[in-house]
Amino acid sequence: MRFNALNLLKQAMTGNKNWDEQWPDSAPKREYDVIVIGAGGHGLGTAYYLASQHGITNVAVIDKGWLGGGNTGRNTTIIRSNYLYDESARMFDHALDLWEDLSQELNYNVMYSRRGCLMLAHTVHDVQSFKRHVHANRLNGVDNQWLTPEECKAFCPPLSLSKNARYPVMGGALQLRAGTARHDAVAWGYARGAAARGVDIIQNCPVTAIRRNADGSVAGVETAKGFIGAKKVAVSAAGHTSVLMQTADVQLPLESYPLQALVSEPVKPIFPCVVMSNAVHAYISQSDKGELVIGSGTDQYTSYSQRGGLPLIEHTVAAITEIFPIFNRMRMLRKWGGIVDVTPDRSAIVAKTPVKGLYVNCGWGTGGFKATPGAAHTFAWTVAKDDPHPINAPFTIERFRNGRLIDEAAAAAVAH
Ligand SMILES: Cc1cc2nc3c(=O)[nH]c(=O)nc-3n(C[C@H](O)[C@H](O)[C@H](O)COP(=O)(O)OP(=O)(O)OC[C@H]3O[C@@H](n4cnc5c(N)ncnc54)[C@H](O)[C@@H]3O)c2cc1C
Repeated sequence: MRFNALNLLKQAMTGNKNWDEQWPDSAPKREYDVIVIGAGGHGLGTAYYLASQHGITNVAVIDKGWLGGGNTGRNTTIIRSNYLYDESARMFDHALDLWEDLSQELNYNVMYSRRGCLMLAHTVHDVQSFKRHVHANRLNGVDNQWLTPEECKAFCPPLSLSKNARYPVMGGALQLRAGTARHDAVAWGYARGAAARGVDIIQNCPVTAIRRNADGSVAGVETAKGFIGAKKVAVSAAGHTSVLMQTADVQLPLESYPLQALVSEPVKPIFPCVVMSNAVHAYISQSDKGELVIGSGTDQYTSYSQRGGLPLIEHTVAAITEIFPIFNRMRMLRKWGGIVDVTPDRSAIVAKTPVKGLYVNCGWGTGGFKATPGAAHTFAWTVAKDDPHPINAPFTIERFRNGRLIDEAAAAAVAH
């Protein structure tokens, strides 16, 4: 059933009791053409594009928990594409193009809000590096502009320009096309679209191992519900990718860290945009519910805990209240963590692997929500055609052997 004005009216008149199930909870078949491991935005999006763009519908998406319960449902929803390197700019701008029409494409409101993202510069180094980003972005056709401190304040009135601040505002880089989207709606929209095209979504079913045939090619997966055969296996398991890939004897240069976020009590609309301070590792926007959504940095130690250390969020909130003194007396409502997988150059891997029929989309670290449609779209292409899409072609595993890094780590000192 489509979401449209007529159906909304009809359902409202009958107490909203007759909406269709959005996606069925499927039992696994014995074998699929493609198994996608991980029902986050990336995995569900991959299944959606496999079905909608490549006509491959004998597909299962398997998750150990509930769909969207990983980083997709835990992030601070910042979407932007103002990355330094050509390869990243192409990937993230492709995603931004897809974000713009995603609600229409899925007939599901993902609440994409183009409210602009302002990256604050607090030091001379920040000023130089962000101006370099602005120039590089413009050469790549990515919108980005430099604002003086006063222009920053005009764009985001709660900002303090105090000269005595620990983190003085020396200017900012503004991407107007950037913004936010409702994160779980992205998972739900892709799940609904994929299921409508015949994809099985199997929840509460941990994959314990990827199995290979005697000739080395992929055979299927061992799960809590038994062995499921597959001609191709596509891994989109974020913080658990390296563990899963090890079961197929593929070593990946990944480290998993907890990353935290928190929200305040809800207040009336006060914060019109997204503001990031890379130097502090603090990110802030306001949700439609009115909560301030605040993102923090990664823990300093690798871990699989979905919680993270308290000192990090104390540091973030202390800085936020100095940069925005108006929020000094706000109370924080809840905090949580997710497990992010980080590569040495802080760029993703979206690629074939040395194992025939095994593909991986991982390493998005602290910044993969914004990439969701672009990564899923190009990954589906790679899985369907057994060949890289031109946009994800540089995001290989081999770059860590041959040195052709996409070094966003060195460029920004933050993976966001
Ligand atoms: C606190 C926080 C804030 C963030 N803020 C932003 C932001 O503002 N902007 C941005 O762009 N990015 C942000 N990110 C990063 C972003 O959330 C991720 O890069 C992105 O959501 C990854 O999507 P995914 O679909 O690959 O992973 P996930 O949504 O994590 O999906 C992976 C799925 O794999 C499943 N899985 C794992 N192991 C197995 C197994 N063995 N068997 C079966 N299933 C398995 C998990 O249950 C999970 O559902 C943030 C992340 C966190 C944690």
